[in-house]
Amino acid sequence: MRVAIDGPAGSGKSTVARAIAGRANVTYLDTGAMYRAVTCKCLADGVPVTDAERVADVARSIDIRFGQDHRGQTVHADGQDVTAAIRTAAVDRNVSAVSAIPAVREAMVERQRKLGAEGDVVAEGRDIGTVVFPDAEVKVYLTADPAARAHRRAVQRGGGDAAVDANATADAAEEQKVLDDLIRRDQLDSTREVAPLRPAEDAVHIDSSNLTLEQVVDQVMGLIAAARAKEAVHA
Ligand code: C5P
Repeated sequence: MRVAIDGPAGSGKSTVARAIAGRANVTYLDTGAMYRAVTCKCLADGVPVTDAERVADVARSIDIRFGQDHRGQTVHADGQDVTAAIRTAAVDRNVSAVSAIPAVREAMVERQRKLGAEGDVVAEGRDIGTVVFPDAEVKVYLTADPAARAHRRAVQRGGGDAAVDANATADAAEEQKVLDDLIRRDQLDSTREVAPLRPAEDAVHIDSSNLTLEQVVDQVMGLIAAARAKEAVHA
């Protein structure tokens, strides 16, 4: 079973995918973290993100490992714990340039397919339903209006979780900065030539602007149950 969750930055994909992984007993695959790890390594090693050749070399050679500890999912790149480093504003600013490089995408998609072949997964990103797993049994395109997405991200930066606490607040200036960055990143991610952010034709669209995490997760669990029932009939 492959569950693909695509959508723009801050639409709640990670929170929803993590919850689905727990409830449906499938492995969580955060593909954005992989592009972030490549970006982080380039910034740390002084590789300009505009140098497609050198960035592609980093993407092909980097060792990325996912783990678990008290923080939740952890990410190691070439043996270094980059769990926090991949979420900085510097990585946010540069990741779209890195992920637009075709050779970088090729290297990441190959790894993602390998991970998907190892067992049931819920993968989240921008091109999961269109490119990585075009035959995924469940495809969701998760959106939310930009203001709602910026609010969630800003609360998250402050250590809170708007999906759990509807009254959570964030610094207004920080929220505006996050909103500007999200809009810029959406624009870059949806207009790039290779694997732009767009819904798969057969994806189910869910707008999470006015839904709780529970409501979104319930909808996706319903789709998974239907896909499993269909598989059982064909088995
Ligand atoms: O999901 P997240 O915000 O962590 O993704 C970071 C960036 O990685 C996105 O803005 C996008 O440029 C890139 N990405 C991508 N394809 C994916 C997942 C993420 O291009 N499947």
